[in-house]
Amino acid sequence: MAARVASAVRELVHRPRRLRRCAALRNLVRETHLTPHDFILPLFVSEKIEKQRALESMPGVWQFSLTEIVDEAAQAQDAGLQAILLFGIPKHKDEQASGAYANDGVVQKAVRAIKKKCPELVVITDVCLCEYMSHGHCGVTRIDGDHFHVLNDETVDLLVNTALAHAEAGADMIAPSDMMDGRVGAIRQALDAHGFTETGIISYAAKFASTFYGPFRDAAENPPQFGDRRSYQMDYANAEEALREVGLDINEGADVVMVKPALPYIDILWRVHERFGTPTAVYHVSGEYAIVKAAVEKGILEERAAVLEIMTSLKRAGADIIVTYWAREVIQWLKS
Ligand SMILES: [Zn+2]
Repeated sequence: MAARVASAVRELVHRPRRLRRCAALRNLVRETHLTPHDFILPLFVSEKIEKQRALESMPGVWQFSLTEIVDEAAQAQDAGLQAILLFGIPKHKDEQASGAYANDGVVQKAVRAIKKKCPELVVITDVCLCEYMSHGHCGVTRIDGDHFHVLNDETVDLLVNTALAHAEAGADMIAPSDMMDGRVGAIRQALDAHGFTETGIISYAAKFASTFYGPFRDAAENPPQFGDRRSYQMDYANAEEALREVGLDINEGADVVMVKPALPYIDILWRVHERFGTPTAVYHVSGEYAIVKAAVEKGILEERAAVLEIMTSLKRAGADIIVTYWAREVIQWLKS
């Protein structure tokens, strides 16, 4: 028996380990390469602060004031990043989310200032109402006794106004993250009607109702005051539905489609990339970030190795664009 096994091994034609023998050989056959151009850095700008505020649940992530955000964006660009995704925290919230689409809304002011200093930097704006609504939901709500409804079409009207306000301020791309039906088409139509034919849409096409958004709510100050988001964000058990959602957004005019969160949905990312071939983004979210940070703090994982492996796996699974709080660090690591 032993002799037969040995001869089978002796006669091996294919020995995949030949190509793993040294770093140079491994480099030659490496299939997936990260570059600084793969990444978008999310940034939080708050009207409520004068000085940057560290976020306890997301070590290494801050909210910035309106003055600081310009320098932060400029530094990101100097470091080699070419795109940022802006989230705004307004001074006042109300039941109409009026800060979202006001001419002097926090994101609008930040975009104007950033584009003035960094005209080449691609500025993408999150379009949603939750940060601006006193109740923290992503849309207009109606309460009937014990039940609440998030009203789709009324919400889309406000999202359209928000997208227009961001485009007027100079945003290069609009990123609707609300998951209302039909909002991509409505935003595309309104942008075109107002002459913003060059303003792109990166849609959160398959956004799942996920527990991994937990720490973000601290960053964006948008936790719902009642109920949850499961009537608009997707059930995490559904893949076919995710593909239908992505197909709808592409038909409505999305230039880039996004899957969110990342690692627990890597199968969705792969299927979206394979089926549609449309530029595909993935959002590695706050909870995924916090997990690794906690393990690093405890000495369980090495941060650089863990993050580069995660980012490479996302690209290998079909991500053309990765939104991550590690964007700054990753491009530094790629240089060294
Ligand atoms: Zn929202």
